[in-house]
Amino acid sequence: MTATYPTVAFEEFSVAQQRTLVLIKPDAVRRGLVGEVLARLERKGLRIDQLRLRTMDAALSDAHYAEHVGREYYEGLKAFMTSGPLVSLVASGDEAIPVVRKLAGATDGRKAEPGTIRGDFSVSNQQNLIHASDSEESAKREIDLWFAS
Ligand code: ADP
Ligand code: MG
Repeated sequence: MTATYPTVAFEEFSVAQQRTLVLIKPDAVRRGLVGEVLARLERKGLRIDQLRLRTMDAALSDAHYAEHVGREYYEGLKAFMTSGPLVSLVASGDEAIPVVRKLAGATDGRKAEPGTIRGDFSVSNQQNLIHASDSEESAKREIDLWFAS
């Protein structure tokens, strides 16, 4: 007989439950890596609370990347981010904001550690597969922006 070991949650002391906004960027959709990215989030133990396929337009790019508008790479970034469908999702769980940033790895795929999503699948500073909120403040702002309606 095969034994099963269901996951049981025991509350840990002082662990923040957080929600974070994740984008699986158009390069990942084009390359067939949506399942790979979702699997990594799920296997880590995060929950997927919301999930949607959509194409970003210029206005949403300007709002989402407000702090980057005007930087020398921004027009290229906008062209890339609006170039095809992406997957937006809300992930939640224990300290989900820093946990997903760690899974994503450093911005530049060439410098990101192997074992991270960017480190394993990207050699680009722009086409780096995933966006993840970087603070509680940006997570709230970005979840409202992407999932208000
Ligand atoms: P992160 O996504 O790791 O939070 P940033 O907030 O610095 O990184 O930048 C947002 C996104 O803009 C990056 O994920 C990347 O797609 C793009 N980007 C950042 N810096 C550059 C750059 N120097 N050249 C091209 N694209 C860039
Ligand atoms: Mg950022």
